[in-house]
Amino acid sequence: MFTTRSPETELDPIAEHPRITVLGVGYLGATHAVCMAALGFEVLGVDVDQQKIQELSSGRVPFFEPGLQEKLSEVLRTGRLAFTTDLDAAVRFGDVHFICVGTPQSIDSDAADLTFVERAFEALASRARRKALLVGKSTVPIGTAERLTAMVNTRSPIGEALELAWNPEFLREGFAVDDTLHPDRLVFGVASGWAERQLRAVYAPMLRRGTPLVVADLATAELVKVAANSFLATKISYINAMAEVCEATGADVDRLAEALSHDERIGGKFLKPGLGFGGGCLPKDLRAFAHRAEELGVGRAVAFLHEIDDINTRRRFRFVDLVRDLAGGDLHGARVAALGAAFKPNSDDVRDAPALDVARMLALEGADVVVYDPEANENAHRTYPDLDYAGSLAEAVTKADVVALLTEWDEFGRADPNELGALVNARRIVDGRHALDADAYREAGWIFRALGQPTEPVGMITREAQAVN
Ligand code: NAD
Repeated sequence: MFTTRSPETELDPIAEHPRITVLGVGYLGATHAVCMAALGFEVLGVDVDQQKIQELSSGRVPFFEPGLQEKLSEVLRTGRLAFTTDLDAAVRFGDVHFICVGTPQSIDSDAADLTFVERAFEALASRARRKALLVGKSTVPIGTAERLTAMVNTRSPIGEALELAWNPEFLREGFAVDDTLHPDRLVFGVASGWAERQLRAVYAPMLRRGTPLVVADLATAELVKVAANSFLATKISYINAMAEVCEATGADVDRLAEALSHDERIGGKFLKPGLGFGGGCLPKDLRAFAHRAEELGVGRAVAFLHEIDDINTRRRFRFVDLVRDLAGGDLHGARVAALGAAFKPNSDDVRDAPALDVARMLALEGADVVVYDPEANENAHRTYPDLDYAGSLAEAVTKADVVALLTEWDEFGRADPNELGALVNARRIVDGRHALDADAYREAGWIFRALGQPTEPVGMITREAQAVN
C-alpha cells in the first residue's frame, strides 16, 4: 500500500514528504497519526497493545475524542495510514519517528516514569539501519532528550546518523483533532539543521499557513511544555484559592472571576472556579516538574507548584463537605447522583479525574453513589468497579437525596431543573463546575450550592425534612 524508498533516499531521507511512524497510539499518538495522514503523509502507527492496533486497523478509535472517528475512517480509505505491532517494519518504513508513549507518574514518587520512553527509543535505536529522525512528543523532564541522545548514539548500529529532536505537543483532549491540524504554535527542539529541516517538512502544511514556530535547543523544548502546563494549573488554582477566601467571607467567586476577566492582562480563560484540574497531563506534569527542579537544585524556584497541587486537591474535600451538609450532616445511606466521571467534558479520560475521585470519596463516607458520564462510564467502572453506574441522566438522579455535578457536560447544563426535580428524592444540588443556572434551579425549588458561592441559610437540614417529592 505504501510507496517504497529508493536506495538513494534511504541514505538521506530529506524528502518533501517524509514517511512518518508514530510510536504509541493512545490519546496523543492516535490523533497525531490520523491527522498527519489526513495532511497527505504516509503514516504507520505502532503500539505494543495488540487490541488497540486491531481496533484502529479496523477503523474504530478505542477512546472518545470528538471528530477523530470520522477522520480515521476517512484516512483509512486513502490507504495512507496503517497500524502495526511490528517495530521492525516501522523502522524500515519511517524517515521521521514520533514517540508518543506514556510518561505517567512513578508509583513511588512524584517523578515521571520514563520506562516507556526509554524502551521506545532503545528499540528504535537498536534496529536502525539508515538515517532517520527520532522525535519525542511525550512530555518529559528537562534533560531527558540529552540523556536519550547519548543512549541512542551508543545503541544504534549507525551511530550519530540517527538523530533526536523534541517536539512538545499542546493538543487538548476534546479538541485534539482541530488542535493537531491547526496548532496555535509549533516548538522544535533540535540539535542540527538537518533535524530542523525534517520537522519543517512534516509541518509544512501548518508553516505555510503562518503557524508561529519556535526553534530551540532540546532542553528549552522540554521545558516549554511543563512551563505551559504549570502556568495553566496555576491560573486554575489561583481562582480556586480565591474561592476559598470567598467561602470564608460570603463573597461570590463567580462575580469576582467575571470582574477580573475584564482586565486584559488577566483574561478570563482558565479563570473558572470549580473542582479543579485533572487528567493524564496537568497533575503529573506539575509534580514531575517540581521533582526535576529539586534534582537540578532549583526546587525553590517552583516550590509554589506544591501549593498549586494542594489547592487543587482541597477543592475535592470542600465539595464533599457541601454534599454532606446537604445530606443532613451524614452521608451514610444517602443516595448521591454523581454527574460526570471524566476529568473534563468531551473526553472519556478518567486519569486523575476530580469527578471520579469525589465519587469515590463520597462512597467511602457511606453514600450510595450512582455515577453517570455520557462517555466515561466504561473507563470509570474499570477504575472503580465498586461504584454503581447508570446508563442515563434520568436513571442516575432517580431517588437521589443529593445531586452532585462533577463534570460540565452540555447534557447536564441543558437539563430542565423541573424535570430533574420530578425524579429526585429531594431537590438538593451541588454544582462543582459552575455550569448550571443557579437561579433556574432555585426557582424550581432546589437548594443550590456551588464552590466559592455564598450559601443561603437552610436551617437544620435533615434528609427527611427535605424529601419534597
Ligand atoms: P496513552 O496512555 O493514551 O498512550 C500511550 C500509548 O503508548 C499506549 O497506547 C501504550 O500502549 C503505548 N506504548 C507504551 N510503550 C510503547 C512502546 N514501547 N512502543 C509502542 N507503544 C507503546 O497516553 P497519552 O495521553 O497519549 O500521552 C502520551 C504522552 O503525551 C504523555 O507523555 C503525555 O504527557 C503527552 N501528552 C498527552 C496529551 C493528551 O492530551 N493526552 C497532550 C500533550 C502531551
